[in-house]
Amino acid sequence: MTSLYQELETPTFRLAVAQFEEAAERLGLDGNIRGRLTLPQRALIVSVPVRMDDKSVKVFMGYRVQHDTALGPSKGGVRFHPDVNLGEVAALAMWMTWKCALAGLPYGGAKGGVRVAPEKLSRAELQRLTRRYTAEILPLIGPEKDIPAPDVGTNAQVMAWMMDTYSQEMGYAVPGVVTGKPLAIGGSLGREDATGRGVTDVALEALRHLGLNMAGATVAVQGFGNVGMHTARIMHEAGAKVLAVSNTKGGVHSARGLDIPTLRSRYQSNVRPLHECGVGEFISNDDLLQLECTILVPAALSEQITEKNAAKVRCRILAEGANGPTTMAADRILEEKGIFVIPDILANSGGVIVSYFEWVQDVQKYFWKEQDIRDRLHEIITAAFHRTLEFSQAKKVSLRMAALMSGIDKIGQAHLARGLYP
Ligand code: GLU
Repeated sequence: MTSLYQELETPTFRLAVAQFEEAAERLGLDGNIRGRLTLPQRALIVSVPVRMDDKSVKVFMGYRVQHDTALGPSKGGVRFHPDVNLGEVAALAMWMTWKCALAGLPYGGAKGGVRVAPEKLSRAELQRLTRRYTAEILPLIGPEKDIPAPDVGTNAQVMAWMMDTYSQEMGYAVPGVVTGKPLAIGGSLGREDATGRGVTDVALEALRHLGLNMAGATVAVQGFGNVGMHTARIMHEAGAKVLAVSNTKGGVHSARGLDIPTLRSRYQSNVRPLHECGVGEFISNDDLLQLECTILVPAALSEQITEKNAAKVRCRILAEGANGPTTMAADRILEEKGIFVIPDILANSGGVIVSYFEWVQDVQKYFWKEQDIRDRLHEIITAAFHRTLEFSQAKKVSLRMAALMSGIDKIGQAHLARGLYP
């Protein structure tokens, strides 16, 4: 076993590889290509020294992993979180490859991260950390090479600092080097809530498929960040009753349905406990996952639904807003229970789909109306949903396996066509 492999050996990476291996086996994927796709194409580990406000220097670990670039520049977010490690970033990069391929985007997959608790830094420290991290990964990124975006713990402001750092180094403005930027510097309308909108679009298709509708649906959302908050809002606007939402410190619940607009207006960020906003009663994250509801949306971190709690999950539809929220053992339990699982690489692909629109607009220097973005997102994600559903019925596999197999097959074909260099 190589030392790189040891660094990668984490539960999240094992989950991504186990999913890949099952899908590759079912596809009968060429063994040589299988070996290439199990490991990342490139992985860069950097140290990120930051001058803190008290003048001391702290060093943080940073990563950028490009899993595959057969179809185009690699694409994927940057995560700022205290648990970030190489294995997690590599797993998330692999999922980005399948996600982009499944949606039909001309991208490979990548992910980056810094092992840091961003809420503990001042704004100035966060800016210095972002800029130094960007400078360290500079040789890897670029609008035709690898295009970062927001993920857990990062946002449009962080993307603006990344774009500025890259542009300063180049000597001219390069908006297409990142997506999820502010509108003022070439960001796209509709990017901010794109993941939540996509989750809602596919959940609606799943409801229709099961003969249900959004008006009668009840919803529970784990996570109240960029994905969870907008998912709760958009589902609420679509007529669903949102029973519960949560963040890392627990959540709020109301059997009558939460007043989401009021909750949003009172909730500042992850620092304020949701149950201090005066909307609904306290609920723990464990209890939220076990609520009886039509749609459960895990929209926080990976490995939340495991063999320990899967039997107690009581939703009709599981729409995975997060990446990797369900372990393989849990998957089997959910399947036995007849829960309709919309897998992460399909359910949360709205974010990267609108990132693609943003990049196209930046490269063409021609910007679209918000309605055009919503319509095109809807078109791409619902088509991907129906293709995946048909594939799963034809091959008699779960929706997760169907999504993985479709994405992996596209990448496999690209590798076969391109051949092995030299
Ligand atoms: N971080 C998001 C994801 O996991 C978005 C990636 C992107 O837009 O490149 O899909």
